[in-house]
Amino acid sequence: MTHIFHRSPSSPPAIAVHGEGGFIHSADGRQFFDGSGGAAVSCLGHGHPEVIDAVVQQMHKLEYAHTGFFSSEPAEKLASLLASHSPPTLNNVYFLSSGSEAIETTLKMARQYHVERGEPQRRHNIARKLSYHGNTLGALAIGGHVGRRALYQPLLVQAHHVSPCFARHYRQADETDDAYASRLASEFEQLILELGPDTVSTFVAETVVGATAGAVAPVPGYFQKIRAVCDRYGVLLIMDEVMSGVGRTGTYHAFEQEGVVPDLLTMAKGLGGGYQPIAAVMVADKVVDAIVAGSGAFQHGHTYVGHPVACAAALAVQTIIQRDQLVQRSASMGQHLRALLTQRFGDHANVGDIRGRGLFQAIELVASRDPDRPFDPSLQIHAKIKRQAQQVGLLCYPGGGCIDGVHGDHVLLAPPYNSREGVLEMAVDRLGQAIDLVLNETAGKSGT
Ligand code: PMP
Repeated sequence: MTHIFHRSPSSPPAIAVHGEGGFIHSADGRQFFDGSGGAAVSCLGHGHPEVIDAVVQQMHKLEYAHTGFFSSEPAEKLASLLASHSPPTLNNVYFLSSGSEAIETTLKMARQYHVERGEPQRRHNIARKLSYHGNTLGALAIGGHVGRRALYQPLLVQAHHVSPCFARHYRQADETDDAYASRLASEFEQLILELGPDTVSTFVAETVVGATAGAVAPVPGYFQKIRAVCDRYGVLLIMDEVMSGVGRTGTYHAFEQEGVVPDLLTMAKGLGGGYQPIAAVMVADKVVDAIVAGSGAFQHGHTYVGHPVACAAALAVQTIIQRDQLVQRSASMGQHLRALLTQRFGDHANVGDIRGRGLFQAIELVASRDPDRPFDPSLQIHAKIKRQAQQVGLLCYPGGGCIDGVHGDHVLLAPPYNSREGVLEMAVDRLGQAIDLVLNETAGKSGT
């Protein structure tokens, strides 16, 4: 009898026993293509011998040293490598073990920055609806994922939410991208003015939205307008690239495609590629300078900050990404994946959108395309597709969101950057099979 408290105790998952390249094998002899890299984590696939070697070697040298006493070689080297990939003002790195911890850290670091600069009244964090920033209480509070927040609402600290940038659903018919971006920036500015312009600490946004809405990129110019509002009112811009960073969208940092630089940046999943739990916050010089000039130390910390083995794994993953030019490959394979998705689903009666950047691509499922009508949320189409896809040997990442009455089901693909072409063909084919099986069954049940 098992005692693991599984996510769905009534239907425990298959037992994964072996991973190789893009594939995971289960104890009952099945093989699955990891088309979403778990949750956009496994950017190098499974069982990469060089990463395994790096982990083993570090284990032999030093498994752990608390950062209250020491830094470590892999942590120092990894920080330098990350800084070399980043704009000159984003030079400082704070390591953590998960995306949620990274987000919590940004909120606290921003707060200390303001206090050190003599602005202790700055306390408000503004984020966006239809966003996900993690499951710890602070991260959940700023996230805009209604379903994940609901149960814990009474425990959450105050946060404020503005509209997401999601042109497909929320741009008005006669609105240009530029006008839409301006409308969103002025909604943000209006909220700052209402709260009190000198009381706002941060604006937090995923550069490309992942879990809640499925690979939603902003309209051109959106982040530049948001950055300008942040600068006007002394608000720190936090960009969350826990899911979309480290090459996933075809550039090393997703923000490179937006023409802005954040003050604080979170990275996680592709950083360690799943070989170890690791996350990072990249911090602008001005934030570090203010804290150093003030009390001198960031008042924060976790036991496993800068864990040497986690840093060694991430250093190996990042070195391979650089050496094998995998960011460029994510961009070119992403185009290939988009072409395959368009070929297979472009005319599909129940696919309302195909979107994403690089190897971060999603399709949105609709009950009908004309008129554009979502499925009834209670059908949980996305969850059914995920289950059916696993039955036919494909892992894909599902999601469904609802704000202001607009609901969307999507499934996300985020395969390893070193995936071979034929494998992507197979993934799209299996996704097509799964979707058609679920839709036929749903139509059969509803008698349509
Ligand atoms: N931010 C974003 C954008 C994420 O996608 C996630 C995880 N899906 C998190 C934060 C939280 O990361 P973790 O699950 O590692 O705590």
